[in-house]
Amino acid sequence: MPEVFFRDDDLGDWNEALQKVASLFLERHIPVNYQVVPTFLTNECVGHIRNLRARHPNMIHLNQHGYRHEQFIHGKHHWSEFVGGRSFDDQLETIRLGRELLANFLQEDFDPLVFTPPQHSYDRNTLRALEQLGFEILSASFYPRRLTQLIYHAGRKLHLTAVRGRGISYHGNWRSDSGLFELSISVALDDAGPVRGSVDQLLEEFSAARMYTNRIGIMLHHNAYKTQRDFEVLTGFIDALIRMSDIEFTDMGTIFRQIKTQTASAARHGEQGEGG
Ligand SMILES: [Zn+2]
Repeated sequence: MPEVFFRDDDLGDWNEALQKVASLFLERHIPVNYQVVPTFLTNECVGHIRNLRARHPNMIHLNQHGYRHEQFIHGKHHWSEFVGGRSFDDQLETIRLGRELLANFLQEDFDPLVFTPPQHSYDRNTLRALEQLGFEILSASFYPRRLTQLIYHAGRKLHLTAVRGRGISYHGNWRSDSGLFELSISVALDDAGPVRGSVDQLLEEFSAARMYTNRIGIMLHHNAYKTQRDFEVLTGFIDALIRMSDIEFTDMGTIFRQIKTQTASAARHGEQGEGG
């Protein structure tokens, strides 16, 4: 059965939008992978989100989303963090600082498996740094557009990491350029700014994604949901998914652990087979 996971990005401070989005998912019993920006995180948010997680441990997953979610290239501001040729040591240090911050703030509530690079931008050095620090899952984008999919396909054949700063997706698989597994999003409900389109348009995008994968990641940014209409679109979309009886809701860690178990079991059978 196709699996669906939600990724809510840019968690940092505790605000009304976050409270409303978190409640929306909790009421519907749908887990969410929240991507936390280490330098955005406030003490107030730590207190509230840990409290919430204590009551709903399987519904709230807290992962790392970059370090400061911005960078300057030739004096120009970018919301990305790991493009522009940053060295391996530089990226390693930045990601390590963020990981330590989250581990200190969130303690055992920090899930150190998943890393989401801001703006889904990364290069080979980013992936090397992630592996060295112990991350296992890269989450970026895997968009169901024909041309984009052709580029991914060609890039994977050549074992490329990125083309012109855009990541080559290996979604649902181990990447051939590192030891990382990839679980990326295929549907963006908003662009961190205004909420996109109508419920019907979002459902069309969801259907398009289903043509390419049976592990469909959906991204949102709670801070984008400011008006009643925004929440209506979000609620309408989620409730339409709930009415589909042929999908199930899960989270990235659960998917990854299942695949790891299956892979290990297949390898064991393979060994037994070889031994006769
Ligand atoms: Zn972000």
